[in-house]
Order: sequence, then structure tokens, then C-alpha cells
Amino acid sequence: MTIYTGGCACGAVRYEIAAEPIRGFYCQCRDCQRDTGSGHSAVAVFPSASLRLIGEASENLRTADSGAQKRKGFCAECGSPLYNKPQNKPDMIGVFVGTLDDPSIFKPQIVMFASHGQKWDHLDPALPRVAGMRPGA
Ligand SMILES: [Zn+2]
Ligand SMILES: [Zn+2]
Repeated sequence: MTIYTGGCACGAVRYEIAAEPIRGFYCQCRDCQRDTGSGHSAVAVFPSASLRLIGEASENLRTADSGAQKRKGFCAECGSPLYNKPQNKPDMIGVFVGTLDDPSIFKPQIVMFASHGQKWDHLDPALPRVAGMRPGA
């Protein structure tokens, strides 16, 4: 089985994921804009049990545009955002794909919160866009 590895910018927090991604998405919600300092987050979702942290991530509780709460994990040393743990789906973890050692494995399937997207933030026009959360989420 493939083990996906990654970590923060300074190397204080590393992780290993022993599972294939369940899905991938871009999110243009305002929380993701602030989180990334950019127009959207790029997230791969994995089973939370498959992720093993090496080093200690800091977490804080925040509220997404959907109103759902998530614990965002980041490196306290360098500030890199690493993952989000949705409170209502404890079996899932969303990993910020830029922190993977090989981000090229990312396969985005949908743009969420496209209604909050910025005009200058152009994403693949072939992807389905939804105004809010992924339907059924
Ligand atoms: Zn770091
Ligand atoms: Zn978002």
C-alpha cells in the first residue's frame, strides 16, 4: 500500500497516511481564504485513523462558512496549516495538499463554496461548482 507522507514548512510536524484519498476538493469559503492566505484551500480527504502525526500539531476550533465546526491542525513553529478535522465527521480528516511531499497526487473533483470565490481565483472550469458544501455532506 502507498504511504503518503508530508509535513509543515519547518519540519517540526510530519505525518504519514496509510490509505488512499477518499476524495479531493477545492474550497473557496472565507475561512479557507483566511486559512491559506489565498483564494481557496486544496484538500484531500482521508480516513482519520490512517493519519499518524510525527511531532505535535497545534489545533484550534473554528467555524466554517457552513456553520460546521472543525479542528484545524497547524504547526505552532512555522504556522503551516496541515489538516482539518470536521467535528461532525470524526472518521474523516481533510489534509491541505500543499503539505504533502508529493502534492501531484491530488485529484480535485469539485469546487465548494464557489459562491464565496473571488473573481481573480480561477480554478479548472471543467469542475462542478457548488454554492456551499458538497451535496450530501
Ligand atoms: Zn513547522
Ligand atoms: Zn472552506
